[in-house]
Amino acid sequence: MSKNKYIIIALDGAAGSGKSTTAKAVCQKFKYIHVDTGLHYRSLCLYFLNKNISADKVCDYLSCNSISMNSVIDDFSVYLSLDGHHFSSEQLRNQEMNKNVSYYARLPELRNLLLNYQRDLCAYGQKSGFSGIIMDGRDIGSVVLPDADLKFFLHADLSIRQQRRSSDGETDSISGRDKLDSTRKTAPLVCPADAISINTGLHTIDHVVDLFSQHILSLG
Ligand code: C5P
Repeated sequence: MSKNKYIIIALDGAAGSGKSTTAKAVCQKFKYIHVDTGLHYRSLCLYFLNKNISADKVCDYLSCNSISMNSVIDDFSVYLSLDGHHFSSEQLRNQEMNKNVSYYARLPELRNLLLNYQRDLCAYGQKSGFSGIIMDGRDIGSVVLPDADLKFFLHADLSIRQQRRSSDGETDSISGRDKLDSTRKTAPLVCPADAISINTGLHTIDHVVDLFSQHILSLG
């Protein structure tokens, strides 16, 4: 790896597998930008819920309306704004959103709307002066960034993941979301064949960050 190569990392895994915690720590360490694509789907879900548009009406809505999508950087993260508005974490991470988001996220039209925006964030991070990018989600290594320099897949037992959500104070039926996310036709949750798979239930967060660091440093 040349010293100045901009590193692109795809990070996938189910709810509560530790993606965001790991990505944030690695991004701080290496001066990378973090993209949480779960928040993209949550933002669009809330956008439509606020307009009283159910998932089965989204396709009709998109055929005659456009949504302007922009990016807002805060520290090491970049967030999506829709029609000039960026929802807060409290608005996006709650029981109502956990219950609805996967029904919107399984729509091919909605995924298509995000695909180029998400890919363009790699260049956006580089232009903004970061040394690399970690994009986390469900289909990043398989669909969004299939040529990423590194791909990671995090997993942990359901009971551990559920416990993490409860200790974050979130009510989230993650087994229901897991099922919807991994069985949908378009861009389901999968572990890409070329991904490095880590069971985060077996390691401390510091150890997981060390494992990521070793792989990143081994690129050069
Ligand atoms: O990561 P988080 O749990 O916030 O993601 C919320 C939901 O967004 C997931 O349950 C899934 O339905 C959807 N999602 C997706 N593809 C991604 C990221 C999230 O379908 N790349």
